[in-house]
Amino acid sequence: MTNQQLRKARTALVIGGGVAGPVVALALRKAGIDAQVFEAYRPGTGSKGGPLGLASNGLNALRVVDADAGLADAGIPTPRMTISSGTGKVLGTIGTDPALPERLTIPRGRLAELLQARAEAEGVPFTYGKRFEGAVDTGSSVIAQFDDHTTAEADVLIGCDGIRSAVRGLVDPTVKPRYTGLVGLGGYIDGPAGVGDTGGDFRMVFGRRAFFGYLSDGARTGWFANLPYRDLAAAGLPGTTFDTWMDRLRAAFKDDAGPALQILDHVTPDGFIPASPLEDLPHVPVWSKGRTVLVGDAAHATSPSSGQGASLAAESAIELARCLRDLPITDAFKAYESRRRARVERVIAEAARTNQSKAAGPVAARFRDALMPFFMSRFATPERTAWQYAYTIDW
Ligand SMILES: Cc1cc2nc3c(=O)[nH]c(=O)nc-3n(C[C@H](O)[C@H](O)[C@H](O)COP(=O)(O)OP(=O)(O)OC[C@H]3O[C@@H](n4cnc5c(N)ncnc54)[C@H](O)[C@@H]3O)c2cc1C
Repeated sequence: MTNQQLRKARTALVIGGGVAGPVVALALRKAGIDAQVFEAYRPGTGSKGGPLGLASNGLNALRVVDADAGLADAGIPTPRMTISSGTGKVLGTIGTDPALPERLTIPRGRLAELLQARAEAEGVPFTYGKRFEGAVDTGSSVIAQFDDHTTAEADVLIGCDGIRSAVRGLVDPTVKPRYTGLVGLGGYIDGPAGVGDTGGDFRMVFGRRAFFGYLSDGARTGWFANLPYRDLAAAGLPGTTFDTWMDRLRAAFKDDAGPALQILDHVTPDGFIPASPLEDLPHVPVWSKGRTVLVGDAAHATSPSSGQGASLAAESAIELARCLRDLPITDAFKAYESRRRARVERVIAEAARTNQSKAAGPVAARFRDALMPFFMSRFATPERTAWQYAYTIDW
């Protein structure tokens, strides 16, 4: 190891302006390290996104850099989740511990926009419409190359470029996302969509054939569905039209209790987020190499069933910046990974188990519906879930 590698970082290139990117840049700035962010999309051209749940632990992490401020105005406070079966039987509820920040549901794309705006307001330079393509480690710096043939140079390169990370290709090109067996789709509808205000309750239904979730504050209704496709090719992505998806959704939920069909009647192509395979990365063996490190989905993508991907991305971003503040580069990357790996892999594994329940056949579904009330009453308590939701990073 050379002295150069052991030096503390003073500058950083951040690839990706989703969740981890703006948060790590803000936290690095707080740590006295200059960071600039490069995002492939131009503002306003990305997807608005379906409903995303920001959990108490994610809000706690965002609070370290004051990035939680203003999010509540764009979202729907969601202190409770109620889980039911396709017969209408309530299987359990999960409430936010009143001692913790109240869970929030917000459009995925809007969250990224607000975090970008917050980082820019703090003076973090963002360059949009620039796609990272590769990098060279010079021994004393790293030089990133972009699709417009420009380059940028800094002490470290931070890959916040999501589950299909190009930066991860420099660290370990063999890692590929794992398909969960579920396809996800959803969106937002203006107005109550026939269900009315759910009063801060995100309602989730383990239906007979598929999984449905919805919430409404009366002014807008967010919804999503997870449809099982053991063979992804059978889903026909991306060629399937909006009308065909609507037909498939109606067929999937036609025998379930709950307002899924009513909500689907209000869906228009406008607020519809097309179907995509739900994927995760259960174990990325190496998170850094030389001057390059991964954060958020690039390092530890959990499937949406955890409701934790964005929250874990924010946590990891803060933790990495804290380590880079206190330690030379190589040590900082090691400390960051050792503080984060067990926690994120536990969340990813739990979400994978939930995915199996969502894709259960009729027999397994009967067991699930019979046993879940017992397990939820025992394990979905504030004490049992504190490891996940009450987690805070001591900056
Ligand atoms: C359907 C769905 C529902 C979800 N629901 C939830 C939920 O309820 N709660 C929750 O916490 N999480 C949820 N998630 C997960 C959550 O969205 C992610 O975990 C989170 O966005 C990860 O943040 P990130 O910054 O690591 O990556 P991303 O948010 O994916 O951001 C990556 C950014 O990098 C950019 N980029 C990619 N490649 C390049 C490149 N080569 N050069 C430059 N820029 C690049 C992308 O344009 C993007 O802006 C859901 C995900 C999906 C798909």
